[in-house]
Amino acid sequence: MSKALDLWPDRKAIRQQEKTFTYREFGERVARLARALLAKGVVQGKAISIIAPNVHEFLEAYYACAALGAVLNPINFRLSAREAAFIINDSEAVLLLAHTDFKDTVAGALDDSPLIKGVVWMGQAKRPELEVPAFDYEGLLAAESPEMPPLPDLRSNDLAHLYYTSGTTGRPKGVMLTQGNVTFHALAAIAELKLADRDTWIHVAPLFHLADAWATFALTWVGGAHVLTPYFEPGLVLEAFDKEKITITNLIPTMLNLMVNHPKVGDYDYSSLRAILSGGAPIAPETVRRIVEAFGCDYIQTYGMTETSPYLTVSILKNHLKDLEPQKQLEIVSRTGRAFIGVELKVVRPDGSAIAADNQEVGEIIVKGPIVTPGYWNRPQATEEALRDGWLYTGDLAVIDREGYVNIVDRAKDMIVTGGENVYSTEVEYVLYEHPDVLECAVIGVPDETWGEAVKAVIVTRPDGKPDENEIIEFVKQRLARFKAPKSIDFVREIPKTGSGKLYKKALKDKYWQGKKRRIG
Ligand code: ATP
Ligand code: MG
Repeated sequence: MSKALDLWPDRKAIRQQEKTFTYREFGERVARLARALLAKGVVQGKAISIIAPNVHEFLEAYYACAALGAVLNPINFRLSAREAAFIINDSEAVLLLAHTDFKDTVAGALDDSPLIKGVVWMGQAKRPELEVPAFDYEGLLAAESPEMPPLPDLRSNDLAHLYYTSGTTGRPKGVMLTQGNVTFHALAAIAELKLADRDTWIHVAPLFHLADAWATFALTWVGGAHVLTPYFEPGLVLEAFDKEKITITNLIPTMLNLMVNHPKVGDYDYSSLRAILSGGAPIAPETVRRIVEAFGCDYIQTYGMTETSPYLTVSILKNHLKDLEPQKQLEIVSRTGRAFIGVELKVVRPDGSAIAADNQEVGEIIVKGPIVTPGYWNRPQATEEALRDGWLYTGDLAVIDREGYVNIVDRAKDMIVTGGENVYSTEVEYVLYEHPDVLECAVIGVPDETWGEAVKAVIVTRPDGKPDENEIIEFVKQRLARFKAPKSIDFVREIPKTGSGKLYKKALKDKYWQGKKRRIG
């Protein structure tokens, strides 16, 4: 931050709709916020929670906490008041930064959050009456000097962030990320992705999730610019790519899928885009093909998790992909990527033995390295289960090839065992995405008396599609072994998503497994 201030004080740092801040202005706001937080008792090691959309105050909070050595705890704004209260209490936050768009959630959560000493409000809507003292964000900044307060010495093992996992497969756990984790990851990302001052990054995926949040630091350290979109709206993001001359960004696959299928995708100029990254969930090769076709830029596939700051593998596909023959395209985009800088990675059997590269055997990915969390906040048992002998067990299943490319096949919890055969849900989804009527889909295992579990597809069809269950099942049978084809299909209007925008398969599965015991998950 201070480097960007010294080197490029007048360069554009942040743009959010009609607001623009230079690095000098941004730096002064961060300094004022750091002073205000300090005055409220947010000293080194103390946690504060934040609940807000992608607004510039969110970036300011990241930097003010980094300067103070305070721990930032970003909260998913789609959570209920009860869920938010759980995280606020669990993180032991002393202060809450809150946007008025979530005033009801905040008011409900604070009824149940005894440790919170005050709320700092941003946003324009009317603020609710609260038991705890309430402050105005801009008012606090205006009362402080724009000089950074004296800063503590930070060590690499000091706690920097507490991210609660998406809860895709269970109750959220606070992932501890240290100053060392976050710093190493940002530097590695700068090197891997060749981030530089020419880059303008648009923050579309929510800043409370690491899929996007890691870029906060990396972009600033190279003097790049940040563009903020408070909420995801596919048409507006397409327009912003053109208008704001975006060069690079990371999106969640469900978002990219909606963007490449948007009626206005062909209406804009994307010539400033140099790369689109996708990460956070599996992406169908068909979607990747459409991305390259629509935007004409490089495509970068990432795989990672909150516990690893987040990137574990990366694969960069140059934009000549569309010139390759379809079979070759498929081969390339099906490989998730190679180990990220500093990541040691193995694929192991349930007994812990490593599977040789190029073996087609599926195992669990385990990883080691400077980006790996020291564990879950106040959860020694969960930490012991995930971190064994210095290796983090990801719960993700994969094969690894001779060139070191990892191909993720599924989460262990989403794999379906039907009649003794393993079916990887993503493999079936990838084929369904090739069907012209399928807009979005999720494949899950449902209880079945004969097969133990049966494969079911949940599908959202295109507005002009004429879905026929048998025809779609037949479509899959012609492309995959018959046992992998869905036995049944639910056509729905919408598939539930987690706060970070991923398919929420647990919600789909729970409906069928109520009162029944599943093998796992
Ligand atoms: P929870 O841990 O609370 O159940 P979550 O695992 O979704 O939620 P995150 O840390 O956001 O929480 O997501 C990491 C997971 O997302 C990975 O373990 C993996 O299963 C999945 N994932 C991320 N990137 C990819 C990818 N490129 N391909 C396939 N899966 C991916
Ligand atoms: Mg997880």
